[in-house]
Amino acid sequence: MKIGFAGIGIMGKSMSMNLLKSGYALTVWNRTPEKTEAVKDAGAEVAASLAQLADRSDVIITMLNDTPDVDEVILGKDGLATGLSPGKVVVDMSTISPDVTELLADRLGKMRCDMLDAPVSGGDVGARNGTLTIMVGGKRQVFEKILPVFRGMGKTMVHCGGHGDGQRVKMINQILCGLHAVALSEAFTLADRVGLDLEVVHKVVSSGAAGSWALDNYGPRLLKGDLSPGFKLGMQQKDLRIAHETIRQFEGEFSGTELAYRLFTRAKENGWGELGSHALIRLYEESRPQSC
Ligand code: NAP
Repeated sequence: MKIGFAGIGIMGKSMSMNLLKSGYALTVWNRTPEKTEAVKDAGAEVAASLAQLADRSDVIITMLNDTPDVDEVILGKDGLATGLSPGKVVVDMSTISPDVTELLADRLGKMRCDMLDAPVSGGDVGARNGTLTIMVGGKRQVFEKILPVFRGMGKTMVHCGGHGDGQRVKMINQILCGLHAVALSEAFTLADRVGLDLEVVHKVVSSGAAGSWALDNYGPRLLKGDLSPGFKLGMQQKDLRIAHETIRQFEGEFSGTELAYRLFTRAKENGWGELGSHALIRLYEESRPQSC
C-alpha cells in the first residue's frame, strides 16, 4: 500500500516519521514546503501538488487544522480530488466537524473513493511515540483494510460507527480535555494564591483520584513556565466550537462545555492561540487583583 500524507505539522511530522519506520512507501505534501525537509531526509518522497500526491498513493491521509482546510485540501480547485481515481481511500485524521465529514464522504463516494474519519488523541507525545488513540468512522471493511496503517501510528484503534462517528467520539474526548484544562488552570491558580508549593500540590494530586492526562502532561510544563505547544490553544478552542455547535441542536444542561468554550475563546482573542492549550492559565493569572 502506497501512502500519501498531507499536512506535515506538529502531529503530521511525527505520524509520517512513524509510517516510514513501519516500512511504508510514503509521499508527503505540505502547504509550506520547507516543513517536509526532515521527513524527506528520513526517506519520504515529496509531491509537488495535491493532485500528484493523490495520483501516487493508494491511501491519502490528511492532518490539517480545521474543517474549511480539510474541505479545501480534498475538494478545492487544486485539491486531492483532482488526482483521485476509483478505489483510493482518503483518511482524514484532523479534528473537524462530524456533519461536514459526512458530506465529504458522500462527495468522495460519488467518485467511487472511500473515506474514513480517524481523529486522534494522545497529543504530540502520543504522535511521537506511535501510541495514539484513533477513533474511526466509516465502513467497517475499509477500517479493517486500513488497520495495518493505523498500527504504524497508534496503539488503540476503534471503529466507532458510520461516517462522522469518529469525529463525534473525538468531540466528546475534547469536551473532557477542555474541562480538564479549565480544572487544572483554576486549581493551580488557587493553590498558588493560598500560598502552597505547586510542585508538592502537583505530586500529591496526580497520584490520587484527581489524577488526569492533563495533570501528567501539562502540570510539569506549567511548573517550568513552558507554554509552548504540544496542542495549540487555538485548536482546543476550535474543538470546543465544534462541541458548542452540536450542543445547540439539543436541549439540556451543557454549561460546563459552554464555560470551557467561552474561556478558550477569550484566551484565543487575547492572541494566545499559537501557545499550548495549557496557556489557558494566563486568563486566571490576569484576573488576579492588582495589589495597592
Ligand atoms: P499544526 O502543527 O498547526 O499543523 C497543521 C498542518 O495543517 C500544517 O501542516 C499546515 O500547513 C496544514 N494546513 C492548515 N491549513 C491548511 C490549508 N488550508 N491548506 C493546506 N494545509 C493546511 O497542527 P497540529 O497540532 O499538527 O494539529 C493538526 C490536527 O490534529 C488538528 O485538527 C488538531 O486539532 C488535531 N490534533 C492535534 C493534537 C496535538 O497535540 N497537536 C492532538 C490531537 C489532535 P502549513 O505548515 O503550511 O501551515
